[in-house]
Amino acid sequence: MDRERVEHLLRNAVAMVGVPWDEHSSLHRGCAEGPAAVRAARRSGSMNLYAENGYDLAAEAGLVDVGDVDVSADAFARIQGSFHALATRGARTIAIGGDHAITYPILRGLATAHPGLTILHLDAHPDLYDELDGNRLSHASPFARIMEEGLARRLVQLGIRALSPSQREQGKRFGVQMVSMRRWQADLDVVALGLEPPLYVSLDLDVLDPAYAPGVSHYEPGGASVRDVLRVIQGLPVAPIGADVVELNPRRDHHDMTAMVALKLVKELAARMHEG
Ligand code: MN
Ligand code: MN
Repeated sequence: MDRERVEHLLRNAVAMVGVPWDEHSSLHRGCAEGPAAVRAARRSGSMNLYAENGYDLAAEAGLVDVGDVDVSADAFARIQGSFHALATRGARTIAIGGDHAITYPILRGLATAHPGLTILHLDAHPDLYDELDGNRLSHASPFARIMEEGLARRLVQLGIRALSPSQREQGKRFGVQMVSMRRWQADLDVVALGLEPPLYVSLDLDVLDPAYAPGVSHYEPGGASVRDVLRVIQGLPVAPIGADVVELNPRRDHHDMTAMVALKLVKELAARMHEG
């Protein structure tokens, strides 16, 4: 493909980027195998690439797999650089993790092209620890780093159901808007969250109940259904400029069901991005 064609494609595409990095997981390793599992799900023939709104993600710029970031050395800098390069060429990106530690370098890469971001973060956990086991890059800490550095103007968290006192304090310190799982189930109106562009969506698969997504490292029962999360994605008042789907741990999955869920969520995120 000639260079001009590639640039045109990137400007219009949603790029799927694998980030096979799990060095900063605190309990189990295995999330580095996530991107390969989502690609295998896509190739499996089990599901076509039509989103629920009818958008065909197999169309030329629908969902373009641009491969994995090479994380064999200088992973943090390479993740940041890859997303910076894609964003400055106009591509919208969906990262496939990897654990949640990938979100900090991704946002470092995107923030210069998209200043004043609002982040919608779906997760059982707030991931706001100043450090975990002495690690400030832990998958339990990305949003502390992101807010400290001012990479986002606003952070809205959805599905929280494991809030420790220190993270509650961190949330207050950074002005985080937390919507607990209990409140989500009682009366969530996505539009009332007042999400403004530019919007980034960070989706930790453990926001789902383990019944829907057993292939994650940390189980926190009492979570969302796949349908609950689809309702949020499809109801977003603005199209995201980027997203990540993280914490898929294929070593703990059953019959690839969590990989299929991840692919389904990627499809719907991409379709929402294309809707504009
Ligand atoms: Mn997380
Ligand atoms: Mn989590």
